[in-house]
Amino acid sequence: MLRGVGALLKGMATTLRLFFSKPITVQYPEQRRDLPRRFRGRHRLTRHENGLERCIGCSLCAAACPADAIIVEASENDPAHPVSPGERYASRYEIDLYRCIFCGECEAACPVDAIVLTPTLVPSDYSRQSFVVNKQDLLEEVSGDPKRPLTESELARRSLSVR
Ligand code: SF4
Ligand code: SF4
Repeated sequence: MLRGVGALLKGMATTLRLFFSKPITVQYPEQRRDLPRRFRGRHRLTRHENGLERCIGCSLCAAACPADAIIVEASENDPAHPVSPGERYASRYEIDLYRCIFCGECEAACPVDAIVLTPTLVPSDYSRQSFVVNKQDLLEEVSGDPKRPLTESELARRSLSVR
């Protein structure tokens, strides 16, 4: 019995100690905690500093994806108005976030560092279709640190509105 009382007092002491300590709960989604830089969350398609898209439509990311979540279709670049520095660019790029397991294999497979996983959480939503993100959803606006979290404006134009 004494052992039981001791355990009870120990539990009460823990409760009291935590009751007066600073809460660690975050009021998500209004408040968002900074995630580690290497966290693998929402994808970003990056650009070169001159504004050209890095992706050359080679589909290596799609081939490496264990969840078969990526679709890439490539088109020839117009030499007068190239979209990317290569001969081809991705005219269609889609990721099905329902399938994605955020393993980072696509990022590792990309020969030009075009697709990266950012420290940004994947939101919830009510529509299955909104989890299929397309190239416009994924493409970075201006070249910057590719591993930074998605910016507010990048989040706003994504199909997934609820964060
Ligand atoms: S993170 Fe993994 S599962 Fe998700 S798209 Fe990339 S390779 Fe596929
Ligand atoms: S993201 Fe990289 S691996 Fe995927 S198609 Fe574009 S260049 Fe190729």
